[in-house]
Amino acid sequence: MKEIKTQSEIVSRVGKRISVSHRGGMTVRTGSYTLALDPKRASKSDFSFVSHAHIDHVHNPDGNSKLIASHETVKLAKVRGYNLSGATDQINGIDLVDAGHILGSRAILVEDSVFYTGDFSTRDRGFLKGSPGIKCDTLIMETTYGNPRYVFTDTNKIVSQVSRLIADCFHQCRSVVLTGYPLGKAQLITHLFRNWEPIYLHESVYKMNQAHIELGVEIPSHEYCGAGNKQASILKKRPWIIISPASSGRSQFIRSLRENYGAVVIAFTGWAVNRGYSYSMGVDYAFDLSDHCDFNELVSLAKYCNPSKIYTVHGFAAEFAAHLNFLGFDAEPLEGAEQSTLTSYS
Ligand SMILES: [Zn+2]
Repeated sequence: MKEIKTQSEIVSRVGKRISVSHRGGMTVRTGSYTLALDPKRASKSDFSFVSHAHIDHVHNPDGNSKLIASHETVKLAKVRGYNLSGATDQINGIDLVDAGHILGSRAILVEDSVFYTGDFSTRDRGFLKGSPGIKCDTLIMETTYGNPRYVFTDTNKIVSQVSRLIADCFHQCRSVVLTGYPLGKAQLITHLFRNWEPIYLHESVYKMNQAHIELGVEIPSHEYCGAGNKQASILKKRPWIIISPASSGRSQFIRSLRENYGAVVIAFTGWAVNRGYSYSMGVDYAFDLSDHCDFNELVSLAKYCNPSKIYTVHGFAAEFAAHLNFLGFDAEPLEGAEQSTLTSYS
């Protein structure tokens, strides 16, 4: 097996020596400071960058490392029980760049040289603007969907297909459950299907939607679907739509909506590109609405950033690096193990 490099030296445009290492988490070292990128736990680095509030990117800090995060990430992480207070987005030599992934998501440019994308989307979706990236010397890019199989359907097309499906269900007085990650995807679904009613929210989606509304995102303020008797009295008047977390269609909550109300379950995820996804996840329909770049968008991102060196992380890291080398880039995966494709929780 090919050895995976864990450290690389870079000389920035202004002549500064910078190294990137991936031993126990990604760390950037300059002559003056160390910076941990999305550390999984409190780090000893001078700075720790939290790119966004998905749980695989936040950690509980111990106060020894200065946090770098957007104010939206601080607020959204708090809803999930993480205290990122004291985080800043203003550090000399460090620039935060919109990552287009979820509200508050940022990529980071270190010393005008090393660009780390975190999770990234170049595509406009609902209230989220895609980000083009930025020119850099060294690019550390996420490659969650770095396989040519993953080319996503146009968002407007998905909205019209799903709207037709909802209309058919409503015509038969059947209710609908729309599922997606409670942070990011659920708010996007809320926005894209804002003209339908009544829409109710699962509690975790309700909390995140409220946080988005407080942060100025224009999404309708739907009701929490309640629990127990309250839920039964709200849901007895059919048809309705519930926006629910993307747990398996076999989860207790979704199963009860199916069994008690005959609800149709529709999932939204990039993994829906895989044939058989609906069956394996126990949902009725699945659409490839994603908050990540698809394969072609990853290629465009690399071309736009035009770096002399690319490191790939997450998902199809080795496969996508090989494709970048084929295109003439100098690329290699920064991680040894491929991340499981169906359990990428956000
Ligand atoms: Zn994410």
